[in-house]
Amino acid sequence: MKEVELILSPPEPHFVGDGFRVHNFIPGAYRLDMHRMDPFIMLDYNSKHIFPPSDKPKGVGVHPHRGFETVTIAYKGKVAHHDSAGGGGIIGEGDVQWMTAASGVLHKEYHEEEFSKTGGEFQMVQLWVNLPSKFKMSAPKYQAIENAKMQRVDLEKGGYIELIAGDYTDFNGEKHQGPASTFSPVHLSNASLHAGDTAHYSFPAHYNTAIVVIEGEIIVNQEFVAPTDNFVLFANKGEEFTIEKSPESVENAKVLVLSGEPLREPIAAHGPFVMNTRQELVQAFNDFNDGKFGFLED
Ligand code: MN
Repeated sequence: MKEVELILSPPEPHFVGDGFRVHNFIPGAYRLDMHRMDPFIMLDYNSKHIFPPSDKPKGVGVHPHRGFETVTIAYKGKVAHHDSAGGGGIIGEGDVQWMTAASGVLHKEYHEEEFSKTGGEFQMVQLWVNLPSKFKMSAPKYQAIENAKMQRVDLEKGGYIELIAGDYTDFNGEKHQGPASTFSPVHLSNASLHAGDTAHYSFPAHYNTAIVVIEGEIIVNQEFVAPTDNFVLFANKGEEFTIEKSPESVENAKVLVLSGEPLREPIAAHGPFVMNTRQELVQAFNDFNDGKFGFLED
């Protein structure tokens, strides 16, 4: 059995721009530096927060990325994004945007206009997935993974798993595959757990594995209670674990599950750039200052 190493309550939130009120679990919180959850190098969690109506959409203005992927998962509210390659779109409730920044993009991320006007509950995750060194300078790309595109796997009591990336073997032994393409082995999924459902997972011991409790309270490995907004880190021991909705939990539980094979490469990171060497980091700043990331209007 995969052992629970830590159950972390959310750190004090801070604002990213004026639109994202996040608890930063990776890196920095507790023992979670950029290597502990490799290839997951950053995880910001915007726990459920009510934004008042606003005429001017809140968010983060134009900024660059290079060397990794940003994965945005919207649970409540809507996010709009635009980038220097002319791409853009809206990430609605239950949707995921998988952006491969790779050699570099400029983008901006805001609350969607209509959502801004009405205000309301906002909840999301932004995850950074590191790229293997040989793909860091490949061409940027987008995968808009609307909820309907996700592979849905039903559990026994009405709950289900929505596979975003990687695979999942159900209780009949059937293997399902998520729609996202990745540059290294990564599993990303959401589980909705109803009373009596047990979701079983199995990942190699050396894969770095964690879960974020998005809604409700859960029980891990039939023993450990993890409340809403907590982060459960698994030790690199054993392969299988289970999660269930806690009988104490009135609402159904929702859980984000992430597991990935570590890249085990050097990390040179500063702000929006994550490379392998200091030299590549300096190059990223020079390229950005030279306008090589393109142009995007504020
Ligand atoms: Mn960004």
